[in-house]
Amino acid sequence: MSEMMYRVLGKTGLKVSMIGFGASPLGQEFGVIDPAEGKRAVHYAIERGINYFDVAPYYGRTLAETRLGEALLGYRDKVILATKAGRYDKELATGFDFSAQRILKSVDESLARLQTDYIDVFQIHDIEFGLHEQIINETLPAMQQLKQTGKVRFVGITGYPVYPLKEIAKAAEVDTILSYCRYNLMDTSMDDVLTPLAREQEIGLINASPLHMRVLTTQGAPEWHPAPRRVVEMGRQAAAFCRSRGVDIADLAMQFVLQHPVVATTLVGMSKTKHVDQNLKTVGVAPDPELLAEVLALIKPVANVAWQEGRPENYDPGAVEKQS
Ligand code: NAD
Repeated sequence: MSEMMYRVLGKTGLKVSMIGFGASPLGQEFGVIDPAEGKRAVHYAIERGINYFDVAPYYGRTLAETRLGEALLGYRDKVILATKAGRYDKELATGFDFSAQRILKSVDESLARLQTDYIDVFQIHDIEFGLHEQIINETLPAMQQLKQTGKVRFVGITGYPVYPLKEIAKAAEVDTILSYCRYNLMDTSMDDVLTPLAREQEIGLINASPLHMRVLTTQGAPEWHPAPRRVVEMGRQAAAFCRSRGVDIADLAMQFVLQHPVVATTLVGMSKTKHVDQNLKTVGVAPDPELLAEVLALIKPVANVAWQEGRPENYDPGAVEKQS
């Protein structure tokens, strides 16, 4: 049985498990799940040494927080709990509120659903949907103020395009950055933009979606996946190639991301004990270098193909139109 390994989350000093539990599947973001099995997955993860749990009011439109809160009853002191504020739905026009007033209300709502009186890492959810000025001058100061109330220990930002995350982290004080789908077998552009900054400023770097939101699995991407079809199709081909070598692409994908020297925790979405088990087995295991080289060569034509997310002024350079 592989032993969990821990890293320090930047200047927070928190010792976090290298695999973090992504709770968005508890909110059925990837389809209907069995809630009892979801709860068992949470308990099993804790038993096996996972101590970092990431959720958001947005996941399942509050369902994931409610389910995680129930699962963590009696376990709160064993885990580092991260949630978010500012995003509540999908659409730019209606799904977001980054005002200080909403942030202060949001934290109380999350505390109630999570059945706790403090959040370890409180993050602005998908800053690319906000106005730069508001995030810097209103949202982040409100979040930082919450530290004084004891409701929040550390403050972070999350998002998809890497440049806006860098700009915000350079302009204001943040403890953590969560970047998703930008460091895995399909895309490594997090390293070009965020990793050097995180290292220099001792910001805790969190890498989410190591399976590229299921592109890098045998099951394949969900219908709603925003990547261009050629990326999703390449995932299918790469999964079949790995299968022909007797390897599950999810294992290779996890082994690959876990070699990263700066990322403190990698968040993988889970709602089944069998996935917790499978993912834990990749800790401390280096990918087979030959297979890795072959898969990266296969994927190369679509490597680092990013899609547009958020407000147009926040798109990463070269990002292509989103699919859905
Ligand atoms: P992911 O790449 O982790 O993929 C999750 C999907 O893969 C789920 O359907 C899960 O059931 C499945 N899966 C997990 N392990 C598997 C295995 N071994 N084999 C086959 N399938 C497996 O994508 P994600 O869930 O979007 O990202 C992980 C977590 O990161 C999220 O749950 C969330 O907590 C966080 N996240 C945050 C943001 C943000 O803050 N903006 C964005 C994306 C993700």
